Amino acid sequence: MEKYDVKFKKKLGQNFLKNNNVVKRIVDVSGVDENSLVIEVGPGGAIMTRELAMKAKNVLAYEIDQDLSDELFKRLEGFDNVNVLFQDFLDSDLSGDVSNYEYDKLFFVSNVPYYITTPIILKLIKSGLKFNKIVMMVQKEVGDRFSTGPGSREYGSITVLLNYFYDIRKEFFVSKKEFVPEPKVDSLIVSFTEKENKLPLKDFNFFEKILHDSFQYKRKNIRNNLKSYDLKIVEKVLSDYNYDLTVRAEELDLEIFVSLANALYK
Ligand code: SAM
Repeated sequence: MEKYDVKFKKKLGQNFLKNNNVVKRIVDVSGVDENSLVIEVGPGGAIMTRELAMKAKNVLAYEIDQDLSDELFKRLEGFDNVNVLFQDFLDSDLSGDVSNYEYDKLFFVSNVPYYITTPIILKLIKSGLKFNKIVMMVQKEVGDRFSTGPGSREYGSITVLLNYFYDIRKEFFVSKKEFVPEPKVDSLIVSFTEKENKLPLKDFNFFEKILHDSFQYKRKNIRNNLKSYDLKIVEKVLSDYNYDLTVRAEELDLEIFVSLANALYK
């Protein structure tokens, strides 16, 4: 069991893994090999960084907490294929940083800080980078939300957005007992593989906006949530799928949202 000489900062989502067997399982699921560049957000005490560095060609890690630097460099001694950038990942020039490397395969493998799970994924999508696989530790409820279908309580705009881009798999459950300090919630390892045949979309940002607006008020139907758009067009698209304006967003699948966004985009 790993011991850390660190003052954990709750506001930065600092719950470190302590069991190397869990780390090994995560890295195994990823399929990282010696031709790979791996991006990691939040190396923390480097437990996963070291395991990744043993398998990959290079690891590029972003850590926001400069106070971890002594501990981090001590634990990464001898690993000359790891570069840690001390900065907020959300402000980073990800594709610029990645362009400094030569690699055959690109991976993202991270026990991410949970308070920014969705912004991290959106940043990966918007970077335009082609990842062979994205493997993430997420809060269990969030993992359930990512991989559910229409009609379930967890189904939301992020579900539809992620399922547009990725095939999503729940890989395995990780108990809160595997972390120090112990968080309140259990976790899941989820993996994302980019879909080969995505539905044609006129504009990604507009699609994101339609999803946001459609799910804005969960109890309201589509007529209310999309009232600032041309409702005749909305009605026509819905009727093609045998729905009307009284339907709620949580009942509609990915293809219907793509059709709505494409029909409403000017
Ligand atoms: N990878 C380590 C592990 O598995 O034990 C630590 C994971 S801990 C859940 C999340 C890490 O992300 C912390 O080290 C935290 O300081 C870092 N972090 C939080 N916000 C960040 C951000 N915006 N950019 C980069 N790192 C961040």
